[in-house]
Amino acid sequence: MCESLTKQGAFDDLARLIVSPGIPHLYPVPNPVVAAALSAGVPVDNDIGLFFQSFATEEWSGFDIAPRVVAVTGSNGKSTTSALIHHILEHVNRPCQLAGNIGRGVLDIDPPIDGEVVVLELSSYQTDLARSLTPDVAVFTNLSSDHLDRHHGMGGYFAAKRRLFAEGGPDRAVIGVDEDEGRFLAGQLAEGPADDRVIRISVDRKLTGPGWQVFARKGFLSEYRKGKQAASIDLRAVAGLPGAHNHQNACAAYAACRALGLAPKVIEAAFHSFGGLPHRSQTIADAAGVRYVNDSKATNVDSAAKALQAFKRVRWICGGLQKEGGLDALNAVSGDVLKAYVIGREAANFAMQLSVQTQVCGTMAEAVAAAIADAEEGDVVLLAPAAASFDQYDSFERRGDDFVAEVTARI
Ligand code: ADP
Repeated sequence: MCESLTKQGAFDDLARLIVSPGIPHLYPVPNPVVAAALSAGVPVDNDIGLFFQSFATEEWSGFDIAPRVVAVTGSNGKSTTSALIHHILEHVNRPCQLAGNIGRGVLDIDPPIDGEVVVLELSSYQTDLARSLTPDVAVFTNLSSDHLDRHHGMGGYFAAKRRLFAEGGPDRAVIGVDEDEGRFLAGQLAEGPADDRVIRISVDRKLTGPGWQVFARKGFLSEYRKGKQAASIDLRAVAGLPGAHNHQNACAAYAACRALGLAPKVIEAAFHSFGGLPHRSQTIADAAGVRYVNDSKATNVDSAAKALQAFKRVRWICGGLQKEGGLDALNAVSGDVLKAYVIGREAANFAMQLSVQTQVCGTMAEAVAAAIADAEEGDVVLLAPAAASFDQYDSFERRGDDFVAEVTARI
């Protein structure tokens, strides 16, 4: 198949080559079919590009409110933020669909109806390649090192994400400004400090200024616009969004929904009925005063570091296929870790890089058994691997399921 496609003339009648996100189009090396298409001058695109190109139809002229697209990107928190926006819209009975990197493919959604909002989660692989990217509201949660092989480093990774804000430009941009890249992007998109087409969000600092900003500090979300406080929400009581990282997701979802015209009170009410997503900071059991949390989706160092900071007295199950960049960022935030139970084929090597007390367990069964044997009332047994799962599992979901099964069988 590959051979016949790379033959001379094979692309003569092709209007476009559509590529799935797993196929490298540039780094570490271009897939041979993509390379041949590009050599033949055939445009390379993906389903996201096709979606944006075909989204608006003639029927829309009969609609009172044209359908809108909210697109969410960033290194971490994309799925949670997208699902939370979708949940809030459902809560107010606004027609909505969730698609992209989460659940349904974009080309599988139903034709949108009057007033509908399509919420898309978009990965860097998807934004890098799509030839059309024209959301009405675009969200950038944060940036930390991930997928560097596919983007040839941090610069390429950021450039891929930035495309969501460049090709046509959204009406509103919700930007996490806790890293240099987010601050740069917000600065580049805004005409000046009062330009409220950009909504800045933070969980690091109080944001001031004449523009539009949403930030969370000490568990309280605040919205300021034109220098005045517009709303305040106590996030500490929101069970489905534990930890500062989830408060960042709450700020992003809140800002996107405000950009769609929703009132603070209805967004606050919807937060309380958000159950969270499986495998992301998900409490799966509470037994004998010990809480069990499945964060199998913490496949990189940054997301695992955020999970460690969300809980106290942590018995931490970690390890797996280690990514580039080392584990130093974890050691900087492991003050509340009582002990690490390390799994994975390279468990001993992983354990050696940690600054906390470790036990090399290898398998999930061994790690869960050891953590339960050690746990006392008030402890949290947390699966936050800080590594990919592929050395032992097909996916992070299977790894999380295994954790749940082992815990359930033993408590
Ligand atoms: P993504 O879709 O970007 O991978 P998820 O919502 O699926 O994001 O969360 C992935 C992992 O990152 C989980 O371990 C989760 O607990 C953690 N996480 C969620 N939100 C954030 C955030 N805002 N910052 C850092 N880590 C986060």
